Amino acid sequence: MYCPNLSANRRSGSVPVELIIAALVLLVIFVLMTPVQRAMREESEENRCLRARREIAAAIKKYRAQSPTYSYPKDLHALSVYLPKMPECPRQGSFRWRLSHYSDRTQEGRAVPTGRLTVLCSEERHRPFFAPSDE
Ligand SMILES: [Zn+2]
Repeated sequence: MYCPNLSANRRSGSVPVELIIAALVLLVIFVLMTPVQRAMREESEENRCLRARREIAAAIKKYRAQSPTYSYPKDLHALSVYLPKMPECPRQGSFRWRLSHYSDRTQEGRAVPTGRLTVLCSEERHRPFFAPSDE
């Protein structure tokens, strides 16, 4: 059977226009989706880091509840009893914590650290986690 369009394409060796248009559409979709995918990945990493810092804040509270002086742990290693598996930042950030302010006195005159606990990640894009106050 003779097909004039098909034989014309085969003869010239040209790429069909439809194929070029499909490739361009795919390229445009890829270019448009790349920033969206990056933003979604970064948000997912931020959320995983936030969960890790929440776990650390919870472990710090448990540590303080067990401490006779209601003191804060010196470092993350002191939390190993409460954190069998140390939480990690997906971007390999390191964690630290700080208090917004210190010291109240108990009725016996003993200084007790108080204030808002903030757990921070060294990765600058990961916002601080402000633990809810338990005072
Ligand atoms: Zn982080």
